[in-house]
Amino acid sequence: MKVVRSKYLPPLRRHVAINLFGVFFVHPGVNVNERLINHERIHTAQMRELLYLPFYIIYLVEWGIRLMMRGNAYLSIGFEREAYLHERDLDYLEHRKPYAWVKYLRKNKKQRRRKRKKTLRYRKLKNNHNNEQARD
Ligand SMILES: [Zn+2]
Repeated sequence: MKVVRSKYLPPLRRHVAINLFGVFFVHPGVNVNERLINHERIHTAQMRELLYLPFYIIYLVEWGIRLMMRGNAYLSIGFEREAYLHERDLDYLEHRKPYAWVKYLRKNKKQRRRKRKKTLRYRKLKNNHNNEQARD
């Protein structure tokens, strides 16, 4: 993977690195370790199977949608979830299934369970409220 040190890419200071079409741009002074390289390699695999441009379109659209949802939009993006979850597994790309990122588009089980619990709690409160009003 080609690593380029740049003051200007990524444009925002809060991001330390960006992968553009398989070239990895990093701010000067950022520690580039195996985990970070692996994270970016996973993104490159995702890009390659989408023929590059659609990767960025899907990434931005998903990020925009996730901004309106609960939680950290960036960390919830399917591409990022796959990359963060497997960045420590340096052999991941050798056994990764094509389009593996698709399964990370859905919320995970824990998040779904939390939402279901919240909905049930809300319905119960609403029912209690309606019952109380009916009694009055
Ligand atoms: Zn990433």
